[in-house]
Amino acid sequence: MDFECPLCNALIDVSENCPQCGNPMEDRGRIEDYFGPYDPYLDRAIVSMDEQPHQCVHLFACPDCGYDSRIVVNQIPI
Ligand SMILES: [Zn+2]
Ligand SMILES: [Zn+2]
Repeated sequence: MDFECPLCNALIDVSENCPQCGNPMEDRGRIEDYFGPYDPYLDRAIVSMDEQPHQCVHLFACPDCGYDSRIVVNQIPI
C-alpha cells in the first residue's frame, strides 16, 4: 500500500493563519524540496528527525511578515 501526502496531491487544503500578524500563510511545499543552502537554520538532520514514516512536513510561510512554521501532514493510503 502506498502512502501519499494529501496536501502534496492537492486533496486537502490546509489554512493556517500567521500567529504574528493574522494573515493567511502560504504552503511552500515539502520542506525537503524547499530548503537549500539559502536556509542555514533548517538543516537536513533536523528535518529527517522530525519526519516520521507516513508523514510529510510542509513549510508554511507568511507572505506579509516572513514568519514561517512547519506543518506535519499525515499521509493517507492511496
Ligand atoms: Zn506533502
Ligand atoms: Zn505574518
